[in-house]
Amino acid sequence: MTAVDPQIQVQELRRQLQSLLDAAKANERKLDRFDALERRLVAVGSMEELVNLLLVECRADFNLDAAELWLLDPDGELRRALPSLPMTKAPLLLEGHGPLKDVFGAVRTTRLVGPGNHEAVLAKAFGDGTPVRSAALLPLIRQGLLIGSLHFGSRDAERYDAGSGTKFLDRLSAIAAIAIESMLNRERLRRAGMTDGLTGVHNRRYFDHRSLIEFSQAVRHRYPLACLFLDIDHFKAINDRHGHPAGDEVLRQVGGLIQRSLRTGDLAARYGGEEFVVLLPRTDHAGAREVAERIRLMVQDAPFVTPEGGTLSATLSAGLAMLPAGAASFAELLNAADRALYEAKRAGRNRTVSGDAEVNTAAS
Ligand code: GH3
Ligand code: MG
Ligand code: MG
Repeated sequence: MTAVDPQIQVQELRRQLQSLLDAAKANERKLDRFDALERRLVAVGSMEELVNLLLVECRADFNLDAAELWLLDPDGELRRALPSLPMTKAPLLLEGHGPLKDVFGAVRTTRLVGPGNHEAVLAKAFGDGTPVRSAALLPLIRQGLLIGSLHFGSRDAERYDAGSGTKFLDRLSAIAAIAIESMLNRERLRRAGMTDGLTGVHNRRYFDHRSLIEFSQAVRHRYPLACLFLDIDHFKAINDRHGHPAGDEVLRQVGGLIQRSLRTGDLAARYGGEEFVVLLPRTDHAGAREVAERIRLMVQDAPFVTPEGGTLSATLSAGLAMLPAGAASFAELLNAADRALYEAKRAGRNRTVSGDAEVNTAAS
């Protein structure tokens, strides 16, 4: 047997110790990064902030090449809520469990997948074509139910290795699921307080709040802002002839028609009984008139279905006004649209009338 040089032995031991220290340091840095992310997850204040944190900031902080968030949305609740939120990257909303089953199968634990026989799963988990070679797929579970999933992907085939531990990722997915659920509940409450129960469009309270923001933005950035007042014609007669529940049904369907005629960023609200108000930012007079006429014609042509299964027809009148240059308050725009609506009624109903907002110069 040859004696090993003690100096070489010491060198070897030093090298092993250094590599252990490096591993411990790397682990500590990893723990710090996860810890920082988890603290931010539980502190987010809005859905858009939460999504941004999981999809945009995580990607940068963890040096990922792809990040995806899938959320189950069987009732279309998120589909309705998300377009109005300013988000850099949106989650994918799933109507059913199918895609989650494709990725997780019956197992509901974190999956680390890499090259080999997992290409199909990677392609499913990252739909946008990013060439991901390994990934961590995190199921989001609340109260025993799978509510979505979070996918972190890397071009590096070795980054997520099926043999590695998933303790940090398991914790992260549990906290992300709680944060998502509590944000959804908050969003539900917020919407419940700002949505008209009968028609599903925003209520007056929300309109009063949002309109001031739209007004100041339009003034500051000098873009046109159009306002429409829409009022169902002879609605009292509809109630009298067909009953109040049939009237309610007409209101509900008109609300839906209005909502569907608008773009993201437009604002519709039930202003009062059978009166709706619409704000169209960055829309000129011709564009606003087109929207008003489209809604008017859709209502005119719609067979409104009553609770008894019969149909009835209805019409509405529209008053249109544009935010005048130099307007001092939003009320000027509303009043002008209201006066135009009055003119439309006076002129025989089922029509759109444009009015000019009068700039109130009395105070100057
Ligand atoms: P005009 O063409 O001039 O607008 O006539 P109108 O009959 O539509 O207007 P009027 O203001 O005289 O009547 C509005 C009616 O709307 C009276 C009210 O009972 C009814 N109404 C208000 N809110 C509701 C509601 O939520 N459901 C139902 N079914 N009717 C409502
Ligand atoms: Mg009316
Ligand atoms: Mg009215």
